Amino acid sequence: MDWPAVAERLATELVAPRAEEMDRTDRLPTAIRQALASSGLMGLTTPAEFGGAEADTRTVARVLETLAVASGAVATILAVHLAVATRPIVDHGTADQRRTLLPPMASGRWLGAFALSEPSVGSDAAQLATRYRVSGDGFRVRGNKMFTTSAESADVIVLFATRDPAQGPHGISAFAVTKGTPGLSVGQRLDKLGVRGSETVELVLDDAELPRTALLGTEGEGFAIAMQALAEGRIGIAACALGVARSAFDTMRAAARKDPAEWKRAAVARAYAELEAAAALVRHAAEVKDRGMAFADAASAAKLFAAQTAVRLANAGIDIAGPAGTLRGARAERLLRDARVFPIVEGTTEIQELILGRSLLDREEPKP
Ligand SMILES: Cc1cc2nc3c(=O)[nH]c(=O)nc-3n(C[C@H](O)[C@H](O)[C@H](O)COP(=O)(O)OP(=O)(O)OC[C@H]3O[C@@H](n4cnc5c(N)ncnc54)[C@H](O)[C@@H]3O)c2cc1C
Repeated sequence: MDWPAVAERLATELVAPRAEEMDRTDRLPTAIRQALASSGLMGLTTPAEFGGAEADTRTVARVLETLAVASGAVATILAVHLAVATRPIVDHGTADQRRTLLPPMASGRWLGAFALSEPSVGSDAAQLATRYRVSGDGFRVRGNKMFTTSAESADVIVLFATRDPAQGPHGISAFAVTKGTPGLSVGQRLDKLGVRGSETVELVLDDAELPRTALLGTEGEGFAIAMQALAEGRIGIAACALGVARSAFDTMRAAARKDPAEWKRAAVARAYAELEAAAALVRHAAEVKDRGMAFADAASAAKLFAAQTAVRLANAGIDIAGPAGTLRGARAERLLRDARVFPIVEGTTEIQELILGRSLLDREEPKP
């Protein structure tokens, strides 16, 4: 199957025409949710034995970039579902968890979410305050999760909690939590700057009752599961940022063509170079992963640069559009708001710098 072509059709026929509506209403239209499911795209990262397409990372990145050209929100929803929601179940689920959770996620009947961040914990995820205890034949979870993409609509949430905050990362476990879990509810629905149309909510866990079978991996393995999922997820988020950057570039080029003043030519030329550099980094990160090599550095570099490129190009787009570009409803204005979210999600720019700095400076040099 030519998945980028499937994404292109969906983006052009359904997503782009409704991008402005999604931004205004902050809702994902049912027709787009259904089309995402029926297209097969929601199974891209699931093995074939569970009904997925088992696509390589390059294909997934191209699909996300294509959708993000039309809507950063729709691409973000799919990126979260494919990487940080689906992959921990593929990689760490028991045979039973994989058999029950993956087929409906791959077919798109179920949407996935990932709940790590909390009201006062983001970058330093080892400090989680949401606690769990063993209770009878299961677990009780208490706390709040914040900024959880898709969690109100989600049917399965990969959720992280600590048994004992004093144990730092070693106290954290991962759970696959399904809709309707007693004690789990949605708190605030957050009204965001950008990628509106992708819902972002607070989750409240009031002694939420999880069965023993909800545990993903072993107790204490949750932090490693989260970091592994985020490293992979960053390639997808980088691809989303690249799509928003491409949309900003297309918009600025169209505007500059109508009035090709010298300074606009220079701005479009600079933007083109940056866009190509970001595209090369995203492609490289995906290829490194597909070759089975250590990809975390390449993923961080791609995420860092593509997110910054999206912001810079969207900003330059406003310069070229002039005051009309600042008006509510103008494409340039929406792109700048959408772009600004990408340096934050799945690890901020500073956290990518931290990851890369540690890896490049603290790791032993390979022997000649
Ligand atoms: C649209 C959107 C969707 C999101 N979706 C999800 C989701 O689905 N699931 C989920 O779990 N989370 C989600 N998040 C949360 C996101 O992952 C966090 O916002 C992010 O990790 C940063 O955490 P924080 O906001 O608590 O900032 P903080 O960690 O408080 O950081 C604040 C600032 O300090 C900087 N900083 C922090 N530590 C350091 C350091 N050691 N060195 C240098 N600078 C530092 C950061 O870069 C940042 O600029 C989402 C966020 C947004 C905006």
